[in-house]
Amino acid sequence: MEKGKKLYEGKAKIIYATKDKNQVIQHFKDDATAFNNLKKATIEGKGILNNRISEHILSNLSQIGIKNHLVKRLNMREQLVNHVEIIPIEFIVRNIATGSLTKRLGIEEGTVIEKPLLEYCLKNDKLGDPLISREHILTFNWLDTKELDLINDECKRINDFLQGMFRAVGIKLVDFKVEFGKKKSDNKIILADEISPDTCRLWNSVTEKKLDKDRFRKDLGNIIEAYQEIAIRLGIIHEQSNIRPLKFTKPREVKLKKK
Ligand code: 5GP
Repeated sequence: MEKGKKLYEGKAKIIYATKDKNQVIQHFKDDATAFNNLKKATIEGKGILNNRISEHILSNLSQIGIKNHLVKRLNMREQLVNHVEIIPIEFIVRNIATGSLTKRLGIEEGTVIEKPLLEYCLKNDKLGDPLISREHILTFNWLDTKELDLINDECKRINDFLQGMFRAVGIKLVDFKVEFGKKKSDNKIILADEISPDTCRLWNSVTEKKLDKDRFRKDLGNIIEAYQEIAIRLGIIHEQSNIRPLKFTKPREVKLKKK
């Protein structure tokens, strides 16, 4: 697959054109950012693991009828995906209270949310991805009622499926973020972006050890080992897999800018 020009570079991924205007290449970088870009690092091997984990999850979601952008994985770091216009909203589903929810509303950390909670955030780094309501989405025509209802239903189905998938391998799906896009070819809404330990909170069911990007956000160390554990538990890689040199490499650069 011939790679064309770079169309977009985000914090963790790059999108390249292909000869087909309806398909692009999604490249997974090793870069990690947190706290609206205040904290940055390169975590060797992260892109390779996220590529494999997201491929596994999105192809499983396809099999239960959740349409998404994945066409096929091309190599260690790249996927061929349908070209979409990303809807500028982050859809967040929560099963257990933690993170920004506990800070914002004072809900006790670890509270089990009986009926999964769906939140919307505007995808805007300059504004710090603010929380928005259904009314904001409809008022500013980011989506119409039918489109929003369709995405809400898809988020619930994705949550049900992922919760079961992770529960079966001893992991709690605490919360996650998904993004949707409109296909360039026919404007239909499909799931896009990635689903990986970068975009989910995943805790060991018994010990509640964090196996996701919170290890980076909270300086807990052993980030790659945690992502590898997710891939091993899901049966994507074997314990001996050499995703990166065996010696532990510390994140190369960790910058914390003062506000
Ligand atoms: P919180 O709002 O508690 O920070 O995050 C809720 C969930 O959404 C977490 O699983 C978190 O990883 C994910 N999430 C929210 N915003 C972003 C984002 O901008 N980037 C990534 N990778 N994940 C996000």
